[in-house]
Amino acid sequence: MRTIEHWIDGAATAGAGTRRGPVWNPATGAQQAEVVLAEPADVDAAVTAAAAAYEGWSQTSLSRRTKVLFAFRELVNARIDELAGVVSDEHGKVLSDARGEVQRGLEVVEFACGLPTLLKGDYSDQVSTGVDLYSIREPLGVCAGITPFNFPIMVPMWMHPVAIACGNAFVLKPSERDPSVSEVVARLWQEAGLPDGVFNVVHGDKVAVDAVLEHPEIAAVSFVGSTPIARYVYETGTKAGKRVQALGGAKNHMIVLPDADIEMAADAAVGAGYGSAGERCMAVSMLVAVGHAADDLVGAIQERLPKVKVGNGLEPDSEMGPLVTREHRDKVASYIEKGSEEGAKVLTDGRETAPDGNGFFLGVTLLDEVTPEMDVYKDEIFGPVLGITRVDTYEEAVRLVNENPYGNGVAIFTRDGGVARQFQFEVNAGMVGVNVPIPVPVAYYSFGGWKNSLFGDLHVYGPEGIQFYTQGKVVTSRWPDPATSKVDLGFPQTR
Ligand code: NAD
Repeated sequence: MRTIEHWIDGAATAGAGTRRGPVWNPATGAQQAEVVLAEPADVDAAVTAAAAAYEGWSQTSLSRRTKVLFAFRELVNARIDELAGVVSDEHGKVLSDARGEVQRGLEVVEFACGLPTLLKGDYSDQVSTGVDLYSIREPLGVCAGITPFNFPIMVPMWMHPVAIACGNAFVLKPSERDPSVSEVVARLWQEAGLPDGVFNVVHGDKVAVDAVLEHPEIAAVSFVGSTPIARYVYETGTKAGKRVQALGGAKNHMIVLPDADIEMAADAAVGAGYGSAGERCMAVSMLVAVGHAADDLVGAIQERLPKVKVGNGLEPDSEMGPLVTREHRDKVASYIEKGSEEGAKVLTDGRETAPDGNGFFLGVTLLDEVTPEMDVYKDEIFGPVLGITRVDTYEEAVRLVNENPYGNGVAIFTRDGGVARQFQFEVNAGMVGVNVPIPVPVAYYSFGGWKNSLFGDLHVYGPEGIQFYTQGKVVTSRWPDPATSKVDLGFPQTR
């Protein structure tokens, strides 16, 4: 059986640990590889290599660093199909979706290529007579990324291209469920000319995460995953004196007002609810239908559902693949039962339409008349289960979103520009879509939620990513000027 190894100091290594985790093919249900699971000694080896490489990389000129970024961009761009195949094989998502994931990650690399412009500081001359002042941003040192299974290449790319461009060294701890693509990425960095040790990959579980959080030489940690672990990583990492940004789970609402284009809203709901089998942190999981929009919307969605082609993600005509593991598939399926017991109406039951075989498949599921007290409303299900809540007014719809403990993405569908504008100010969420169901910001803005969807102060990538991976310094300088030089024991004041 193939073994997926760590990548430390420019080479694959099995490391010190003997524990291994299974890597599945979700479409067939068969184990296809095993991944090494790090012990603290492996994390330490990666951090030691990163700390040594940081010395040279942080001193490398902006133009040389940028050249590596451009070369990396070219290599990823040339290998989109191959990278997408590796992702699809272990995650299960369909190839077109995996290609989209690589593309969105690539956009962050392209953003990072503009680093010389993005790192420019401010300069004020003559702040006092003969005194000039300027600000610079310096890298932090060794930064770590801990990432989830659902975007095994894109989410790490929210982090490492920006961190590395800023002059840091990076240790990635990807999800142990779909780890292979990280080694491919590491090899591309090497081919692009990145010095060994600047980018490292350590595979593992909680043991590896805890070793990262405790390691004294790691300056900053970026985490993306579920809310309980995000909270844990934030609290543990900050207690150890690290800078931490920890993005958590979500329960994203899509509000459909009575004046909305119902066909457009139904297309959007099906795409955003079931794309990637609902395993997206920006997936729409709750539709909030206002007034008479509900019956029309439900009818339009039900027309579309039988046409969704569920199958192996590597088959070109599949539109929705399997879930990532059997355990996760069974957990998602249990919510259909739970919803029914709680009083929701199961309009379409994915347990009845999943393809035959041992793959971790679940068909599309639609639950109507879901109410906020139900677990199917409260919990992040993270599968192809879309709930519908019916309310009478716009105000009720906004209250539902604002009272929800998560605040990642939200969308409103309407033809009324005034209401949409009011909504963007009234709603408590980090990313808002107006007739756009999955409002993931482009790479030159930053991505992040509010409330339990983000612990920390700064969002990822874009300008806030630059801020996260650098620290500010302000230099106040005076050069000897024979005309003004004299001894002065007074408190410095502007003159
Ligand atoms: P997860 O929280 O189980 O795992 C994320 C990372 O934490 C993995 O690297 C994993 O190895 C590690 N981990 C797991 N259990 C741990 C523990 N007990 N202690 C320490 N580390 C642990 O998340 P997942 O199932 O891989 O991914 C799905 C979740 O990620 C969903 O909740 C989804 O909403 C969220 N997510 C959020 C965003 C966002 O931008 N907010 C983006 C993608 C995914």
